[in-house]
Amino acid sequence: EVLCHGGFAYVEKKKIVEVFINIFKYNVARGLNDAWKARTKHHFGAEGGEGDESNLMAMLDSFLTHFIAEPIDRLEMSSEGSVKAGDIQGLAAIHMPLCMRNVDVHLRSKGHLKHHGRFQFGLFLKAIGLSCEDALLLFSNLMTIHGGGSLEAFTKSSYGYNVRHKYGREGKKTSYSSLSCATVVGMPPNVDQHDCHGCPFRFKDEGKLRETLAIERPNPFGPTTLPKVRPSVADIEDIVTDAKAMHYTRACYKYFMATHDGVRRDGLFRSPYEYFSVSRECEEGAKKEGGEEGGEGGGEGPSPARVGAKRTLFGAVKEE
Ligand code: SF4
Repeated sequence: EVLCHGGFAYVEKKKIVEVFINIFKYNVARGLNDAWKARTKHHFGAEGGEGDESNLMAMLDSFLTHFIAEPIDRLEMSSEGSVKAGDIQGLAAIHMPLCMRNVDVHLRSKGHLKHHGRFQFGLFLKAIGLSCEDALLLFSNLMTIHGGGSLEAFTKSSYGYNVRHKYGREGKKTSYSSLSCATVVGMPPNVDQHDCHGCPFRFKDEGKLRETLAIERPNPFGPTTLPKVRPSVADIEDIVTDAKAMHYTRACYKYFMATHDGVRRDGLFRSPYEYFSVSRECEEGAKKEGGEEGGEGGGEGPSPARVGAKRTLFGAVKEE
């Protein structure tokens, strides 16, 4: 920030420090991100070594999982208004990762969300394209316990202020980004049954995690026409093992792979928004491939083109 005084331009010392700190943080974040990608490749290329090497890799995993910064090459957020308040429940059941699905289910069944839940879910909904007006509508309908009972009352309440604040319409007018997995994983633990925030691979106890994993979900490739999906018993064991070993994002990746049949993806998700975007692209890709314009297999299951083929990262079919 440059200030002009008597014809001289000078930069406040504090601001210079801030600029250097930002550059430093950016470089550290980029280095961590590169390390994370390299480590992810290693995971999927070859299983870890033995003894010291294996211990070192476990330490590296733990470090990268907990301290990786916000994704640098962040996905472009959806345009505001591209999803409506009425779409959220369906999208939660089909495409949202478990951390957001949990909050949606909790909000609908309990009629209230505590601060961390509202923060995590509100920023995520904004990222997927829910407008501020629709967010107010959604939360005023669902926050039945303390929300005021009408859109008008909710909008005037501190909860309404809080929603507008996330969209940069109140306070410092900062438009906040949605949270990365590292941030959601690092949130304070749930203290009672009213809490539902955080990453379920970290926060849920083993029994509850198993129950959640075993629930049948609509098929992300064709929610209205294809059979429901759920991980196999072996997949659940594998996922729980990772969660217990504190490999939360890897457990989440495995859950995604177990419920998105045929997708090929080599990298872990860095944010709930990334998980959601990739899942949604599966449905969009399947619609195109199934021939919305009347092509083969439209809406009746996997098309012949998928036989012997694998999906790429974003759902397009590639011959093996
Ligand atoms: Fe959500 Fe990330 Fe945890 Fe998956 S790993 S449940 S996307 S916080």
